[in-house]
Amino acid sequence: RAKQEGKGTYRFFEPSMSIQIRERRSIEHDLHSALNSGELSLVYQPQAQVETSVVFGFEALLRWTHPVRGAVPPSVFIPIAEESGLILTIGEWVMRQACREAASWSRPLNISVNVSALQLGSDGFPHLVQSILDETGLAPNRLEIEITETALVRDPHRALHSLRKLKELGVNIAMDDFGTGYSSLSNLQAFPFDKIKIDRSFVQEIHTKPHAAAIVRAVLGLGRGLGLPVIAEGVETLEELKFLGMEGCVEAQGYLFGRPVPISELASLIRDNVAGPPRAMVTAPAN
Ligand code: C2E
Ligand code: MG
Ligand code: MG
Ligand code: MG
Repeated sequence: RAKQEGKGTYRFFEPSMSIQIRERRSIEHDLHSALNSGELSLVYQPQAQVETSVVFGFEALLRWTHPVRGAVPPSVFIPIAEESGLILTIGEWVMRQACREAASWSRPLNISVNVSALQLGSDGFPHLVQSILDETGLAPNRLEIEITETALVRDPHRALHSLRKLKELGVNIAMDDFGTGYSSLSNLQAFPFDKIKIDRSFVQEIHTKPHAAAIVRAVLGLGRGLGLPVIAEGVETLEELKFLGMEGCVEAQGYLFGRPVPISELASLIRDNVAGPPRAMVTAPAN
């Protein structure tokens, strides 16, 4: 962009560019020690049945509280963790932490864990998951791994191999953020998915953009045709929930049912807010 504006202006952009690069390096540097310094934690967001609001599981989401910067959003540090390879160590910690936590719940609800392309393609990933399941005692069918289509693009054969091994363990696989990125319908056929997650960008525009509503309907139809359950992400209002229910969507996740909460609030949430109306699930923001 700076270049398009001509040689004369290019110099103005250079200092800020290097600030961005320094910023990125600094974040990467600090991320190296974040895990050992206890700056990383998981928060858990409920997933519920559309019709009854019964919570059947939680998605584990990573949080980083930097000693100086405060909360660094995943949209900033996850890409850096992926590019630097740090996601392998961090991802292993996330998987172990989430499985250990879920194994201790008073009821056997599901736990969804996000897994990035690098992890899925890494040597021995299914074996690592197997070890963590053994170690924590979590039943494999309670674990769902969320991957985006990006994870399938670079090395589809490797991804397929890993996913098949994970399926053999009894773990479930969900396609995250469906409808964005490298979406290809053939992925749903070529890879052993158990669930489709409709990206929240479509859900949030259900009532303002006819195209978004059409896309949500189409994905629900696709799920029905393929026999795959569909969960809607980012449901914030009762109106959205009603629309989804009317269109045959069975599962939902979003602020309407609850924001992601830290471990300290999870036990009581699992015990008390099981079958309440959506409003009863709304908790204070975790961050
Ligand atoms: P995601 O897996 O699609 O997670 C859903 C994101 O939507 C989360 O953002 C969640 O807090 C947010 N969300 C949920 N309900 C609502 C809602 O009703 N309204 C709005 N506006 N947002 C909602 P978060 O926690 O910032 O995470 C962003 C992304 O970072 C995740 O998207 C995922 O791709 C990635 N991520 C988070 N934790 C991990 C992790 O442990 N490993 C990996 N590889 N990626 C992770
Ligand atoms: Mg996810
Ligand atoms: Mg998602
Ligand atoms: Mg998303």
